[in-house]
Parts: sequence; C-alpha cells; structure tokens
Amino acid sequence: MPELTPLLQDFLKTPVHSHFMDGDFVSSNSDETFPVINPATEEIIAQVSLGSMEDVDKAVVSAKKAFQHDSPWRKMLPDDRGKILYKLAEKIEENKESLAQLVTLENGKLLRDAKSSDVGGAAKTFRYYAGWCTKIEGETIDLSQPQKGGKQNFAFTRREPIGVVAAIVPWNFPLSVASWKLAPALAAGCTVVLKPSEETPLSVLLLAQLAMEAGMPSGVFNIVLGDGKTTGAALTAHPHISKVTFTGSTHTGKIIGKSAMDNVTGISLELGGKSPAIVYDDPIDFSAVAKGVAAGIFRNQGQVCVAGSRVYIHKKVFDKVLADICHEAEKIKIGNGFDETADMGPLVSASHRDKVCHYIDQGISDGASLVSGGRKIYDKGYYLQPTVFSATDNELAIIREEIFGPVLVAVPFDDLKHAIQKANDSKLGLAATVWTKDISKAIKTINRLEAGVVYVNSPVRSDPNLPLGGYKQSGIGRELGKTGIYNYTTLKSVNIVY
Ligand code: ADP
Repeated sequence: MPELTPLLQDFLKTPVHSHFMDGDFVSSNSDETFPVINPATEEIIAQVSLGSMEDVDKAVVSAKKAFQHDSPWRKMLPDDRGKILYKLAEKIEENKESLAQLVTLENGKLLRDAKSSDVGGAAKTFRYYAGWCTKIEGETIDLSQPQKGGKQNFAFTRREPIGVVAAIVPWNFPLSVASWKLAPALAAGCTVVLKPSEETPLSVLLLAQLAMEAGMPSGVFNIVLGDGKTTGAALTAHPHISKVTFTGSTHTGKIIGKSAMDNVTGISLELGGKSPAIVYDDPIDFSAVAKGVAAGIFRNQGQVCVAGSRVYIHKKVFDKVLADICHEAEKIKIGNGFDETADMGPLVSASHRDKVCHYIDQGISDGASLVSGGRKIYDKGYYLQPTVFSATDNELAIIREEIFGPVLVAVPFDDLKHAIQKANDSKLGLAATVWTKDISKAIKTINRLEAGVVYVNSPVRSDPNLPLGGYKQSGIGRELGKTGIYNYTTLKSVNIVY
C-alpha cells in the first residue's frame, strides 16, 4: 500500500466527520454516528454523523438562502460561475492522489480506476459543464393568437435555475456520480444538498473543501451525511426542494419518486440495469470480444449500473466465446485496490457480498450451470471470484434481476430476431452492447433495442458529453451531455404586449 498523502492523513484524524453547510463543516444535531469500513481489510477508517431531520432542514435552509435573488450566487455572471466550476476541475486534478486514495479506502476499488473513473471523470464533468454556464438560452416565439385591441407583442422563454436540488448518490462511483449531478446543477445556477451513500461518505467531503477553495460561495454546495431511511427520506420529502436527482436501485428510486411526488417535486432517476451484450457469429476477433464482454461485467467488481450482466451469444460460436470469457475471468487477479498488480478489488460491503452470493446460490439451485468462479476468497475483505453461468431459460432470477456484482450469465440464441426478443425481455432498459462487424446487423439491432445507451464493439463507458439514462424501469430522464443541464432549469414563458 502506498503512503497516504499528508492531506489524507490529516483528514482521517477527524474523530467524527460531519455535515457541510453554509460553507463550513458543522456538527450534527444528533449524536448518532456510523462507521465507514475499508472493504479490503474490514477495518473502520472513520466515524460519520447520521443526519437527523433537523440537520437536513439546516442544510436545505443554507441552500435556500444561497439561492435568494440577492445572493452572491444568483447575482453572479454566468462566465464567473463557469470560472469557479473550471477552477474546481483543476483543483480535483491537483488533488488526484488524495481523492483517489480516499475512494479506494472507502469503496475498495482499484486505485488506478479511482484515478481514472472517479477523479478523472469528476474533473472532466466539471470542466464540461463549466462551458455550459454561458450557453443556457431561451427562445423567441411568434404566437398564433392575435393580441386584443390590435396591439403587438413580443414572446419569449427564459431558462431559469430550478431552485434547491437534492442529489442522492450511490457508493459505486462516489465522486463521479456526485459530479454528474453537482456540475450541471451548479452550471444552471442552482444550489445543492448532496447526500452521499452511507458506505462511501468521505470523498465528497474533500470535494466540498476543494469547492470552497475554488471560490464557490457559502451555501451553494451542502452535504448532509446519513443513511437512506432517515436522512435521505427527510431530504426527498423536504418542501423546499425543487428537484430530486437520484442514482441507485430501482427499488429505492420508486420510494424516492413517490416521496417527491407528495410535494410535486421534479425528479430525475438513473436506476438499475440488467444490460445485455449480443455477440453475433460473423467473422470477428472472438478473443477480443470475450475481453470486451468480460471487461463490461467485471470492471469495478460488476458494481456498475451499465454492466453487461447477460450475454447472448449466437449458438454457432457459443462454446468458443463462453470458453474465452471464462479464460478472461480466470486470469483476473483479485486483491487490495492499492495493489498495483490486482485487476479486481473487494465488493463494497459484507451485506452486499452476501446478497451477490445469495444470487449465485439461487442460480445454481434454479438449474443454471456455474462454469467459472462463484466463491468467496481470502479470510479478510469482501472478495468474490468473477463468476460465469451458462443457461437457456430467460426466466431465471439471475437473468431477470440486477445483481450488481461480478456475475455474468451466458445464453445462446438462433438469429437476430431471437437475440433482440431475449435482450428486450426485461423490465429494465439501461444499456446494451452489440458485437459484430456487420454494419447493417448492428444498426438493425441498435434501432430495436429497448435501452437508453447502446455501444457497438466496446463495453459501455460513461462520458460527460454523452447523455445517460434508461428505458422502462431503468429511470426517468437523462443526465450528462447538453440535455443534462435541462434537468436543473425551468422554463418561464413571457409575453410582452405593447
Ligand atoms: P444500496 O442499497 O445498494 O445502497 P440504494 O439505491 O438503496 O442502493 O442507495 C442509493 C442511495 O440512496 C444511498 O445514498 C442511500 O442512502 C439512498 N437511499 C436509500 N433509501 C432511501 C430513501 N428511502 N430515501 C432517500 N434516499 C435513500
């Protein structure tokens, strides 16, 4: 393990980490705390306050005050808002090592992935949206109705920041998913209360410090720490929230959607996936396909919403491609995320690993064949082998439900129609991949897939410039890209009669 940076060593000395509001770390109203555990060693690395309803209210009041019309943030020119976001991107890059080490400590993922996906992804996202601050525009519109009394008119729309945003994020990419919400919301001129996951609450606290150093006015970006059922629920139900943006499971997304609807609060939800990979039988480099399919499921221990967890392989090449995928899975070296030679770290928590193991047991008892992996390894740490099943029945729980772990199920298909019918036979529709050299087959498949994101000949990788979101129960709305900014604006239609 490398030596922790001085900044991080100092940060970890804090006896109890607490909320961030009105530009400062403030102690909690409640005495309740919870531990943060390093999933690689099972050691407690920090204690964190569990936010009460009063803490949530204080954070929302802070964000509301910073959103008032005469506040520094509301009066700031878009160009200056953009400069702060750009500066924050630079600060993130300057502090890459500290942030990445902290993500690895709290989440378990490989340090190199924490650097590229979490820290690198967050910096790119802030930089992308820094440029959008100066490009939020309304339209002028000619009306169909004549104005009364022969008068004339001038009609237009204004895009205004929607208000105080509640951002609730998961533990799989603690920094980058937070940035997917913070960057566009702040670019639009909103203020934010962020609730990180109880598994990974630490790295966003360092981010808040960097945001202040970048010149973010007090109260614009607030963090309330805590769990889902107390802290998260109080936040989504708060009457002064104008928008709830959530990434997490479909189950929790439904609860949050219902709670937000009680106050008719806007929502955007990026939820679960059970994303198919379709491998056709044309002459393609099947070893490279197997590498791509394996990377698509085993990256980040399979704890990725767009993970390709079902692979449909043409029956003519099924045995060969499955063998190649198993070969890739068996080559994976499992170890502590700080070990530079490791390819895969531990799962995030004991309870999550148990849930994944339960699905593996169920797959076996439902009659799927376990062709690779399936076992916990090492005495300490929540490690699990990359696991591959083969099956023919599309009704199995391991094919229908999101496992969110390193578990792949391979199923053979006869032709394009059959592949698409199986791929679309799911209540989820987040992402899909298609593996073929045949362009017409690829386009036919893209057009018929019920998925919000389709990649051809590559595992899905998110990018700040490309919208992300799901069909069916995988979500409501899209984040990232140009469209991502509109999640955080509201339209005012104006007609001036003269
Ligand atoms: P997981 O169970 O794997 O943590 P979730 O989708 O439940 O996945 O959690 C994602 C985020 O949602 C976390 O920050 C969690 O605290 C939060 N959360 C969970 N339940 C609720 C809830 N009822 N209301 C608001 N937030 C919640």
